Amino acid sequence: MISVRSRTWVKKIVCVATVLFCIFPLTAYRTYAAQYDPRSDSCVYFSVKDERKRIALSFDDGPLEGKTDKILDVLDRYGVKATFFMVGSQAKYCPETAMRVAAEGHEIGNHTQNHKNLAAMKPKELDEEIANAEREIYNACGYIPSLFRPPEGVCTEKISNAAKLRGYSIVMWSVDTLDWQGKAASVIAENVLSNVKSGSVILMHDGIFSVSHTAEALDIIIPKLLEEGYEFVTVGELIAYSPE
Ligand SMILES: [Zn+2]
Repeated sequence: MISVRSRTWVKKIVCVATVLFCIFPLTAYRTYAAQYDPRSDSCVYFSVKDERKRIALSFDDGPLEGKTDKILDVLDRYGVKATFFMVGSQAKYCPETAMRVAAEGHEIGNHTQNHKNLAAMKPKELDEEIANAEREIYNACGYIPSLFRPPEGVCTEKISNAAKLRGYSIVMWSVDTLDWQGKAASVIAENVLSNVKSGSVILMHDGIFSVSHTAEALDIIIPKLLEEGYEFVTVGELIAYSPE
């Protein structure tokens, strides 16, 4: 016969087991629901479903006198417009170059004020990184960006919400050239030519302080893709035609 003391313990164990049984699935669901996937966010673009062979070149981390100019020279030679995601402090440092980008009809996006790790920032600091860049870009070349690209491609829910609150669409990429690693022009070009498809957003860099072969690579990539029937548009034009 089970004693009163034993029955009390059995009751306690049953209660704890019941609570755990109820809470565990709930916790698991909450963890699942809290996970943010930027690829499921309709305000974040990696590429666009567009079968018309339209693609967009994008350049990060500038403007940088000399490096940006070499890229602009190549784009101008082929009559191609691109999107430059500028860092606010760079726009302040190289206003003439920022002005040239705007004057030649290219699109300008916001790539934060100081290119820091946004994920580690408090909301106010994060908002300032976006707002200050917007102000510096406007001061340098009179352009008000509507596209935002987070540094290093780190797009958490907090970061995307901060950009959305400022009215931005967030742009990532679907083809990474790794040009910032100083790769040879032929390697960068092959990386693009073997991975590009209709609707691609191609990531390159004009704000590379070390050796860069981005401009020479463009001189291979652009004529080859024009020959294949691709049309180069800005990121804004590409996402404006998104069926979604
Ligand atoms: Zn960057």
